[in-house]
Amino acid sequence: MFSRRAVNRCLAAIAGMALILFSAAAPAMADAGFQRWVAEFRSVAAANGISASTYDRAFRGVTAADPEVLEKARYQPEFKSPAWQYFDNRVNEEAVATGRAMARKWKPWLDRIEQHYGVSRYILLGIWSMESNYGEALKNDKVMRNVVRSLATLAYADSRRAKFARTQLISALKILQRGDIDVHHLTGSWAGAMGHTQFIPTSYEAYAVDFDGDGRRDIWTSVPDALATAANLLHRNGWRPGETWGYEVSLPAGRKFPAGSMSLSHWASIGVARTNGKAFPAPSRNAELKVPDGRAGPAFLMTKNFFVLKRYNNADTYALAVGLLADQIAGYGGLARDWNRPFERLSFNETQELQKRLLSLGYYDGKIDGKIGEASRSAIRAFQAQAGLTQDGHPSKEVLQTLRRF
Ligand code: CA
Repeated sequence: MFSRRAVNRCLAAIAGMALILFSAAAPAMADAGFQRWVAEFRSVAAANGISASTYDRAFRGVTAADPEVLEKARYQPEFKSPAWQYFDNRVNEEAVATGRAMARKWKPWLDRIEQHYGVSRYILLGIWSMESNYGEALKNDKVMRNVVRSLATLAYADSRRAKFARTQLISALKILQRGDIDVHHLTGSWAGAMGHTQFIPTSYEAYAVDFDGDGRRDIWTSVPDALATAANLLHRNGWRPGETWGYEVSLPAGRKFPAGSMSLSHWASIGVARTNGKAFPAPSRNAELKVPDGRAGPAFLMTKNFFVLKRYNNADTYALAVGLLADQIAGYGGLARDWNRPFERLSFNETQELQKRLLSLGYYDGKIDGKIGEASRSAIRAFQAQAGLTQDGHPSKEVLQTLRRF
């Protein structure tokens, strides 16, 4: 699995020689190219203050690009998932229940972190859920790759990410050099996102804190360090203590709304109201209207903290999922208005049952995780074809009820 560019580079290296490129020979030549790249990058690292011994330590045993990293880098989902799929997979009964259990388990630390940074524990739990499923994902080898090798692979062979990867690699080498973590534990996602709260190296350098006081900023195995690091990022980007991220609202029918930011009292004056019927607690604060699934889906007024959450990950859907998780972990209800959903929703347990039944009938070979991805949807479509149902791939009550009869 080497990119066209890497192969072209190999071909260029042997240009002028009348050789046939046998497929079996390709990996070895690509490795030689990678090793040359590592040797050349040493001077860039040195110019950035990385010692020869740190560099040697970081690259010891790293002799080839990581083909799985390149595979992940090339992956482009065929379709943008609809809102119901994005949010059901992230804001569901299991994520909320685990968040509440973690709130109890880590209460003394969460008390201290909340006190120190002024960031709500529920927001931190929402981020932890989104980033690593409360650390569960770190038990998966795909999320625990060698960060130096992943970033060197991207810098070497992924032209779109080369600049990003070079910057992150220098930063990762600085983390190693300072001794916060040793080379065997400097692990992360294919793109270099590390630890419980998935910080890339430059964000780690900017925001990581040693909250448990053992002298190391360890977001990989110390939950207090990881959650305090997330709190520090939000705090330093202007988080407002004691305030929410936004409100679900209802919109009066048949009128257009201005884009941009206006005071909550102004929004109220033109008929925009909270779906729970309560007044806005701080009506002088500004807010922006967001309708992530169109006017037929739920509507929200987003306040300052929503935009601070986007400093963590610059996507409205991400920040909203964190906010919705936080509210539900804290004991507030879910949405008053559902996402546009052209079928009847299953609970998290029913979704797992659906996957189990598809698996036992041979339509599905993925995880029983209650999350609907491309594999689940194509399994549902195949079953729908067999059962004479409309092949929409939706995890609906109708599909589950039909499966129970098979
Ligand atoms: Ca520590």
